[in-house]
Amino acid sequence: MEREKEYACADEKYSVDTKCQLFDRTLADQWGALSFPIYQSATFAHRGLGESTGFDYTRMQNPTRQQLESVVAGLENGIDALAYSSGMAAVANVMELFSPGDHIIVDEDLYGGSVRLFNEISRKNGIEITTACLCREDVTTHLRQNTKAVYLETPTNPMMNVTDIQKLSDDISGRGILLIVDNTFLTPYFQNPLDLGADIVIHSGTKFLGGHHDTIGGFVVVKDKELDDRLRLLYKTIGSGLSPFDSWLILRGIRTLSVRLERAEYNAGKLAEYLKGKDLVTKVIYPGLSDHPGIEIMKKQARGFGAMITFEVKSAGIARSILNNVQLIYFAESLGGTETLITYPITQTHAEVPKDLLEKNGITDRVLRLSVGIEGIDDLINEFERVFEIAEKESSDN
Ligand code: PLP
Repeated sequence: MEREKEYACADEKYSVDTKCQLFDRTLADQWGALSFPIYQSATFAHRGLGESTGFDYTRMQNPTRQQLESVVAGLENGIDALAYSSGMAAVANVMELFSPGDHIIVDEDLYGGSVRLFNEISRKNGIEITTACLCREDVTTHLRQNTKAVYLETPTNPMMNVTDIQKLSDDISGRGILLIVDNTFLTPYFQNPLDLGADIVIHSGTKFLGGHHDTIGGFVVVKDKELDDRLRLLYKTIGSGLSPFDSWLILRGIRTLSVRLERAEYNAGKLAEYLKGKDLVTKVIYPGLSDHPGIEIMKKQARGFGAMITFEVKSAGIARSILNNVQLIYFAESLGGTETLITYPITQTHAEVPKDLLEKNGITDRVLRLSVGIEGIDDLINEFERVFEIAEKESSDN
């Protein structure tokens, strides 16, 4: 028996901050535990024939995972959220909605793993892919009879391009084309694509939702029952659901989403301004800066600017020097945790993106990406003062 889900967390009377604190009480344990239990069970006993508790087998459903799914669905104003073992598993499952001969338009600036999936797996499966710059180009010029979806991130990883979700949705409406938005960078705390016309929202739960760099997970959120049924069929058939323990970690991470993001965004705004004033820095791309071309769209469609900054320095040598000398900041891939990370897209997150696309997007060996954490802002600025001083010295010595 399919358990009828009641997403208490979707209650519209609550703010997003409060939704982070809600539990689906229809799933509450008998002792009233506030930390929702980890149901580490592969299977669930039936009381009798036709008397499932609603949980049969963890590949299909699990109470801890369902609790997390309920919270994420509520935060994104969806009717259901599906929790996967990684963000990439979420993207890969969504791509299973399509058949050979279907055409998909994907934004040209995306997380490198998504680009690899589209190029290496989706194309092999017979899906036609067009790459377009959705923040600038008219999407209708790329539409074909067989176009089935448009896929984007906004802001994009790593170049922070901003696309007007509502406009894009209007441009493709009435043609049965799914609008798929990866909302990892802003999270539902700052942006709700389903409310702006998107059909599917994707997250890497590894990032801000989990928030502590201690687990890998992913989500798909939908607002349409028929689409949900198709995804649930893929979900239980493919078997890439999030484990109970990892579900619990992300559930716990979400409890502090609002305070973490408020602080990280504050730090990001300050750091972006600081970086703009540095001689070694040639470009700072943060969607909260007044010179960002997407700032007005951000103000319209999001409740904040997030905590991701991309910046360009004068030379590859300076970029390397910064990466080699950070101490407080970690040189690591990933994003969205409480610690500030610096990433080198060209050798890390975007290493396998085709060269011509990297060039077109301006992802050079001078580009660095920052995921700003919740440390003291003065300490972060002092860290940059120190590494810039070393970089300056090293470049004058050479
Ligand atoms: N989407 C975006 C925007 C990402 O940055 C990432 C990973 O960095 C993913 C999806 C993939 O998520 P995961 O690493 O959890 O598989």
